[in-house]
Amino acid sequence: MRGVAVLGATGSIGQSTLDVMQRHPERYHAVVVSANRSVDDMASICRIHKPTHAVMGEPESASALRDRLVDLPQVAVSAGADALDELLALPDIDTVVAGIVGFAGLRPTLSAARAGKTILLANKEALVSAGALFMDTVKRGGATLLPVDSEHNAMHQCLPIDALGRPDMTNVEKIILTASGGPFRGRARESLHSVTPDEACAHPNWSMGAKISVDSATLANKGLELAEACWLFARTPDQIEIVVHPQSIVHSMIRYQDGSVLAQLGQPDMRTPIAYGLAWPERIDAGVEPLDIVAAHRLDFEAPDLDAFPCLALAQWAISQPGGMCAFSAANEVAVAAFLQGEIRFTDIDQVIDLTLKQVELSEPASLDAVQALDETAREVAQSHATRLAAAHGK
Ligand code: NDP
Ligand code: MG
Repeated sequence: MRGVAVLGATGSIGQSTLDVMQRHPERYHAVVVSANRSVDDMASICRIHKPTHAVMGEPESASALRDRLVDLPQVAVSAGADALDELLALPDIDTVVAGIVGFAGLRPTLSAARAGKTILLANKEALVSAGALFMDTVKRGGATLLPVDSEHNAMHQCLPIDALGRPDMTNVEKIILTASGGPFRGRARESLHSVTPDEACAHPNWSMGAKISVDSATLANKGLELAEACWLFARTPDQIEIVVHPQSIVHSMIRYQDGSVLAQLGQPDMRTPIAYGLAWPERIDAGVEPLDIVAAHRLDFEAPDLDAFPCLALAQWAISQPGGMCAFSAANEVAVAAFLQGEIRFTDIDQVIDLTLKQVELSEPASLDAVQALDETAREVAQSHATRLAAAHGK
């Protein structure tokens, strides 16, 4: 029986994780579940999964959850980052699913790394913001890092594993990172000024949280994933080719020196990579419909349009700068939140990131405090630009 901590249990990744775990009650038990403020959803999760601990973001939400669970005293409810840090070191936790969205997930993911857990990483913003510090913490803590982001999970599946259980990059010539292109693929930039949050969140293939849905629409997600692949597989950006594949069936590919290209195919359903991470190196049923390759009919590939979607080009630049992706990710979070609030336009998102990257003094953050300071500075700068743009639109 593996003890699992599901961080971001109420979210899209959290729900998919709990769904897979529920199919294998003899293998997995939720020891810790966490969320920010979704008390109702958390109460339902606690009733179904009976975790030992439930952690909310704030004391008020924790106290509301406690009130909802008076008849379930075996679930200990707590609040805040300190409580979560402590719980993640519990010896009965083997696996930590990093499913919190954004920079907020960095601190608990680093705690899990320090405690030497197996980390199923969905929260790419944590890795790309902290970069070297994140990878160093994983190494020092003796943690195992398994990507569940579908593309990186596909890469992991297409690579041999070395004696230490890590992906073996010998003889790899190129990683081919696929992108769906999002809901606005094929559209010119001029036509994107007036798109709404609902349109941006209507992803053609995947059902995901709002923030990553917008990131997919702007291609900022592919920029984050480029940096994620560089860290996970010790590559430089020129060793990674980005290809738009609108069907989202090929989740990424590895090209070897002999010309062979290995790909992982599957339904666009996050339960596949999550099940792979939970069971690795074994495989388990994920509850995913079998892929009907004949019904899929065709697989298309095309180059990304960097003019219509400048976020990807901005990320490609930021990756080459020390601390650049920390500032990129922070500015993107601020801009996406402002867009989802109806304050700025879709095409303002890349403006906010661009202006922030130009204004913030970048340097490689060597400690968690330094990462947090850079994140905060970038957020302040990004917020000032978002506020100015919102005012220019009369918001
Ligand atoms: P969701 O918005 O669906 O869920 C986010 C989760 O994080 C919720 O449980 C939320 O709690 C919690 N949360 C949000 N803010 C905080 C905070 N400040 N402190 C603690 N917890 C917080 O996101 P997704 O599941 O879509 O994405 C999660 C991560 O996984 C992201 O980094 C995303 O990029 C990555 N990812 C997601 C994929 C997907 O298919 N969804 C695919 C690949 C990667 P509450 O409900 O209380 O707000
Ligand atoms: Mg992905």
